[in-house]
Amino acid sequence: MRIPLLTPKPLACQELVELCTAYLEGSLSSRDRRRFEAHIGACPHCTAYLEQFRLTIEATGSLTEETIDPAARDELLSVFRDWNAAR
Ligand SMILES: [Zn+2]
Repeated sequence: MRIPLLTPKPLACQELVELCTAYLEGSLSSRDRRRFEAHIGACPHCTAYLEQFRLTIEATGSLTEETIDPAARDELLSVFRDWNAAR
């Protein structure tokens, strides 16, 4: 069961990665987009991930998460895990 919160819960890096496609498609709700942009503004790892995502899409012309090199994605996600664990 979801408990409504007065202030939105900050996005975790993992969630942000999963929202990249929707963000770039412009299909996030305005609330999620604000959370996404707030996280991007404060998280250099996700800024780098989103930038790579965007460049990959520009290079391939397609907008799917599968266009990200799986090895690069795993590496980024392990950085996120280490970074979150260190906080
Ligand atoms: Zn992040």
